[in-house]
This record gives sequence, C-alpha cells and structure tokens, in this order.
Amino acid sequence: MNVAAILKLKGREVFTTTPDTALLNITKLLGLHGIGCIVVTSEDGKVVGIVSERDVVREIARAGSKVLKEPVETCMTKNVVSCRECDTIDRLMAEMTAHRFRHMPVIDRGRLVGLVSIGDVVRMRIAEAEMEAAAMREYIATG
Ligand code: AMP
Repeated sequence: MNVAAILKLKGREVFTTTPDTALLNITKLLGLHGIGCIVVTSEDGKVVGIVSERDVVREIARAGSKVLKEPVETCMTKNVVSCRECDTIDRLMAEMTAHRFRHMPVIDRGRLVGLVSIGDVVRMRIAEAEMEAAAMREYIATG
C-alpha cells in the first residue's frame, strides 16, 4: 500500500494558509476544521512551512497569549518533510517515527496534492490487517 491509496480514500483537500496569518486565526482554522495542522504556502502555492497545534501551544506556554497576534511564520516549522504518492506506508511510518511528527504533506512535481496524518496511516494499516485476516480465514475454510 502506498500514499496514493490513502489519498484515494480520504481525498486531496489540504487546509493551507499564508505566512502572515495571525496565530489566533490558525487556532480558529484548526478548531473549525477539526484538524491538527495547517500547511503554510506562499502566494504562488509553494509549501513554505507547516504549523501544528503543538507549535501554537508551545508558543503560548513560552510567551503567553500575546503571541496569538504574531504571524504564523514566527513559529511554523520551515524545514518541511514531505512525501510522494508513490511512497509506501512503511516509509511514512518510519519518517513520522524518526522525526516525531504526525503529518506529512504530499508533494507531486512541486505541487501540494494532499496531506497524510498518522491517523490516516493507522486506519490504512488496520484495513490491510483485516483484509489479510479475511483472506487467511477464507484460505483455511476452503483449503
Ligand atoms: P505534529 O506531531 O505533526 O503535530 O507536529 C510536531 C512538530 O513537528 C511541530 O513542530 C510541527 O510544526 C512539526 N511538523 C509536523 N509535520 C511536519 C513535517 N511534515 N515536516 C516537518 N515538520 C513537521
């Protein structure tokens, strides 16, 4: 199974914002859409950062609620680790574990085409295990 299979199931919508968006608006977007991270893009659609709920919480803990007025570019992660549609789910799990994050934008020929979260990966893994178990039961019953 690969990233393309996950996107086929969950769709390709990605919530994005620009670097000048205030952190308060980031919290509103996270709450409104029920998501854990937002990809930050430049005006021409290039991925320039990623901000997760952890970044916002860390900044508030560090400097207090006044940081909510600051633009997201002050606390986003600029060195974004992305994946491609052809990458395997095993590869994603290894990357997410090694870097200790839960989200990976999918980039194809320089364009943002989706986002995979650890939840999507776990769901896909469970579906895979269930299919294997069903095939095994079928094999035992008819073999
Ligand atoms: P998360 O576990 O995804 O909520 O994010 C934990 C930390 O990793 C935060 O500082 C995020 O900005 C950062 N982060 C999340 N996803 C990525 C990614 N794909 N590439 C680089 N940093 C990331």
